Amino acid sequence: MIPKRFEYFCPTSLQEAISLLGTYGEEAKLLAGGQSLLSLLKLRVADPKYLIDLGRIAELAYIREPGACDAAARTDGPEGEIAIGALTTYAAIKGSRLLQGRCPLLPQTAAVVGDVQVRNRGTLGGSLAHADPAGDMPAAVLALRAELKAVGPSGERWIRAEEFFLGTFATALRPDEILTEIRVPVLKAEKAVYLKAARRPSDFALVGVAVCLKLGRDQACEEVAIGVTGVTEKPYRATGVEGRLRGRRLEPKAIEDAASAITLGVEVSESIHASQGYRSHLARVYASRALQAAR
Ligand SMILES: Cc1cc2nc3c(=O)[nH]c(=O)nc-3n(C[C@H](O)[C@H](O)[C@H](O)COP(=O)(O)OP(=O)(O)OC[C@H]3O[C@@H](n4cnc5c(N)ncnc54)[C@H](O)[C@@H]3O)c2cc1C
Repeated sequence: MIPKRFEYFCPTSLQEAISLLGTYGEEAKLLAGGQSLLSLLKLRVADPKYLIDLGRIAELAYIREPGACDAAARTDGPEGEIAIGALTTYAAIKGSRLLQGRCPLLPQTAAVVGDVQVRNRGTLGGSLAHADPAGDMPAAVLALRAELKAVGPSGERWIRAEEFFLGTFATALRPDEILTEIRVPVLKAEKAVYLKAARRPSDFALVGVAVCLKLGRDQACEEVAIGVTGVTEKPYRATGVEGRLRGRRLEPKAIEDAASAITLGVEVSESIHASQGYRSHLARVYASRALQAAR
């Protein structure tokens, strides 16, 4: 339960953190809220020589709506969007009036992550960079079609949520990059819901389904995006379900039919908590319930 010896750095600016990461490379690890990394250090699953604590970099903790004249506004982004600094905690997301009003899926999802202590320390950036296959926030950012900003020594780049999660604990971030910001769209006509099945209230998801749904005038599905977590080695977009819904009126039968495609093309995980069959069943049921609720 005692980590191996490491050298600790506590930069106060993003630039300083990038420079430290550039210097120590793969021997270094970034520390955000520590809600995943500290256990890994104590169990000696991770034993970095250098630990770079992002916790004092105030410029990475914010939730704001970049104005049209704002230098930070992306010219190619959606009509309205909200920018969230990677170091923003679950508690800040859950309590944000801006997000509650303009993108309620994120506060709704943050509210069911772990317990109060985890939500007070854990960060959105840490959750996404950690890429736990049962993490809640990845499902939400997938359904929101979020964009993630990575900054490294050679500048910044934007990564679509769909391209960010590569596998279990594996992301598109390069070893010398820091995840600094997450951009989510302002939800106007879209309704969004996150539902998770867990053994107990503060547990990781056996299955989690996030839905963003836009209905047309005739109540037919105009646009839909579904993020799924807990089911396989990485969070994914349920494109099979989405394809079956677009253009259809969302009667219960249409929803049931579409939800049956939730595990199409994925190898469903098996664990002591849920067999493949049970997890597949849960995924179908939760997809259906989330769609009904969004409708
Ligand atoms: C008791 C308990 C219950 C939990 N329950 C849930 C749950 O129900 N649902 C859920 O989703 N999660 C749960 N978690 C995990 C929790 O959400 C973690 O907070 C999250 O996985 C990691 O966020 P963090 O800020 O603590 O990151 P850390 O633990 O500090 O870091 C995690 C990893 O991400 C990297 N990293 C962190 N920030 C960045 C960055 N900005 N750029 C690049 N790399 C970065 C670190 O190097 C490390 O590899 C639980 C944890 C605990 C202890």
